[in-house]
Amino acid sequence: MRSFGTTIFAEMSALAAQTGSINLGQGFPDTDGPAAMLDRAVRAVLSGANQYPPGPGLLELRQAVSEHRREHYGLGYDPAGEVLVTVGATEAIAAAVLALCEPGDEVIAFEPYYDSYAASVALAQARLVGVTLRPLGGRFTFDPGELRAAVTPRTRAILVNSPHNPTGTVLTRDELAVIAELCQERDLVAITDEVYEHLTFDGVEHVPLATLPGMRERTVMISSAGKTFSVTGWKTGWVCAPAPFVTAVQTVKQFLTFTAGAPWQLAVAYGLRNETGWVSALRAGLQDKRDRLMAGLSAAGFEVFRPSGTYFVQTDIRPLGFTDGLELCRRLPELAGVVAIPTQVFYDHPERGSHFVRFAFCKKDEVIDEAVTRLKRLSTG
Ligand SMILES: *Cc1c(COP(=O)(O)O)cnc(C)c1O
Repeated sequence: MRSFGTTIFAEMSALAAQTGSINLGQGFPDTDGPAAMLDRAVRAVLSGANQYPPGPGLLELRQAVSEHRREHYGLGYDPAGEVLVTVGATEAIAAAVLALCEPGDEVIAFEPYYDSYAASVALAQARLVGVTLRPLGGRFTFDPGELRAAVTPRTRAILVNSPHNPTGTVLTRDELAVIAELCQERDLVAITDEVYEHLTFDGVEHVPLATLPGMRERTVMISSAGKTFSVTGWKTGWVCAPAPFVTAVQTVKQFLTFTAGAPWQLAVAYGLRNETGWVSALRAGLQDKRDRLMAGLSAAGFEVFRPSGTYFVQTDIRPLGFTDGLELCRRLPELAGVVAIPTQVFYDHPERGSHFVRFAFCKKDEVIDEAVTRLKRLSTG
């Protein structure tokens, strides 16, 4: 694991702290989740939910997840055997990859990809094969021919993240159909990372891959409470899948963490059942913040891609006369008092993303406005 060192988030957040810069790097919200849900967590602690929950998670949360999947997507998962509570989506992804992949197996993921994927695949001694998302008509997408060509006899799984961090792409039904067809033709398992499932904009709808014909039985569907309810510190996630997959994932999970924190589980069950209105307001608010940041970044001279989901705006820095995002991000605190993330760190092939920089907009309006004012120095200074 030596090559994994410290992440770019640690480096850039330390830089932000040292220089007093505005941190639009790391993607966590600077406001809290729904008050009644927070209160539910407090009450859970004070009323004795403080010992090990069962390995699969508290039944109350498994039931709430199951109801939520049915209401939102028409998908049925049995709380007894088809739902597993995990320590965030991160543990779910790691446990799924460890459970389903043998050493030497290949796992396909769309690059740029979330940084834990490569580490999880490495822990399983499997090999990550990146298929590159490229801008086409203002959004990032993949070439079906390239995806098809990436499948080999060793391919075991495809890890699909939609809405996609860091590009903001929400895969369309047609794009998902290409993936679904390939999974069925080549007998692949789909592991889906849907942590931004509710954070989509402009009326764009998130479609779970498991809802496509023939896909429920070969999909390990993963999500978490962190992004949906602005409680990234709670690390409460879940896996929904047919029982043999859940059993395999739980077998690994029991020796990673055994179980997840009890008070959060009760509070998240409450949130899933009672706070859909709060989530809709969060989505609307984030869409405004996206527009605010996009307008500011355009005015500052960046080429800006409109995300249909997530917390992030992707930019091309070349119109400002820069070519290397890593170099720019290291200098950005001194040039403009702002911290961002160089997208190239999310690639197997960094040269394919060297001119992209990612900015987070899950921040207070005044923070976004101040960041934008400062970034305008890049073109005038
Ligand atoms: C934040 C994030 C995660 C991690 O979710 P946790 O529930 O905090 O573990 C996983 N995948 C993506 C794409 C994310 O952005």
